[in-house]
Amino acid sequence: MTTAVPDGAVHTDPALQAYGFATEQVHAGFVPDAGHGARITPVYLSNGFLFDDFDQAAGRFAGEDEGYYYTRYGNPTIASVERRLAALERGQASVAVASGQAALTITFLTLLQQGDHVVSARSIYEGTRGLLREDFARFGITASFVPDPNDADALAAAFRPDTKAVFVESIPNPGNELPDLELVTRVAHAHGVPVIVDNTLATPYLVRPILHGADIVVHSTSKFLSGHGSAIGGAIVDAGTIPDFTARARELAGRFGPTLSPFNAFLLQQGIETLSLRVRQHSANALELARWLEGRPEVASVAYSGLTSSPYHALAARYLPNGQGSVFAFTLRGGIDAARSLIDNVTLFSRMTHLGDVRSLILHPASTTHIHLTPAELAENGIGPGTIRLSVGIEDVSDLVRDLERSITRVRRPPFDR
Ligand SMILES: *Cc1c(COP(=O)(O)O)cnc(C)c1O
Repeated sequence: MTTAVPDGAVHTDPALQAYGFATEQVHAGFVPDAGHGARITPVYLSNGFLFDDFDQAAGRFAGEDEGYYYTRYGNPTIASVERRLAALERGQASVAVASGQAALTITFLTLLQQGDHVVSARSIYEGTRGLLREDFARFGITASFVPDPNDADALAAAFRPDTKAVFVESIPNPGNELPDLELVTRVAHAHGVPVIVDNTLATPYLVRPILHGADIVVHSTSKFLSGHGSAIGGAIVDAGTIPDFTARARELAGRFGPTLSPFNAFLLQQGIETLSLRVRQHSANALELARWLEGRPEVASVAYSGLTSSPYHALAARYLPNGQGSVFAFTLRGGIDAARSLIDNVTLFSRMTHLGDVRSLILHPASTTHIHLTPAELAENGIGPGTIRLSVGIEDVSDLVRDLERSITRVRRPPFDR
């Protein structure tokens, strides 16, 4: 009989490591159900697990017996998806939690304490920026935001004696300012500091940050990994370079309590099984739409790393050879009126703040996700009144082009703009 592994470690057939991505996304980490032989890992919606006797109960609490005892600390459905994610990211182990924000919070709190400092890229998810700037600041953990983490001297200059973590996103949104992962990890490791990479927008199908030196990878699994847009979740993947990291993160997640529902873990696993197919289509659609937008007279600029015009194109060729993802921004010449008109006229794109969904989504960052930024901060992030963010789905791209074309031509060009 195969024993389930509560710690989420990759206890899988070593031969599987030699299989391709598409094979691993449907098989890695699968442990046959000993009770009934279910082919799909069942949804174990059980808060607790029975102890055979007095000694087994004591053993589970002492960590001497590998079985489960309480879902906040481990659950077979959650452990199954943890093993798969660890394998796909080439990590040693993974801890799944209730959301991407929980994954970031638990990661930072595992590595940091009062008085510690984080060096972060400036272009990151607004939720993470707020967490670092406002919430952690209240507990004595501070952060510096580096405008260009690919400038090795500027990055090195941001380090302080109390710097304990470096944070970047493999594909930042909406601007796609790709970090040079090997440069960033080289500078951080020279200072003895681990690197955390948020790999939400790329997924392991496009890049595996651990293979480029990252120590920890975090995900909002709510996005591309699930794809269906019906289950919030998060995950932390441990490269195994920080002593005891997984055990400490799991303990902390148990204490703070952001437990992933086993039902959401099940939905996540269903999503992961088609990840490569979806992300390939997302990326192909996004490239075609970005090229189309670049050729439109109404569009001033397109920030997609797959375009040869992007200053990040060389980094994309190096780190994202399988595709450049599908979340990017473009800026309309007509400012906020043009943006409002386009967004109000689309019928196939969903007006929504989410990303990585199989459906195409459209959003105006300056009035929504980035509403709290000052005009100077908006400009630094390349967000103007006419900037629109797309998360391109897997629909037929001709239908997406038609929806944008029909809507964009209703945009009145400003009278003096030629
Ligand atoms: C959505 C997102 C998060 C937060 O994830 P939730 O699952 O919504 O909590 C963090 N980082 C990035 C890059 C994201 O896109």
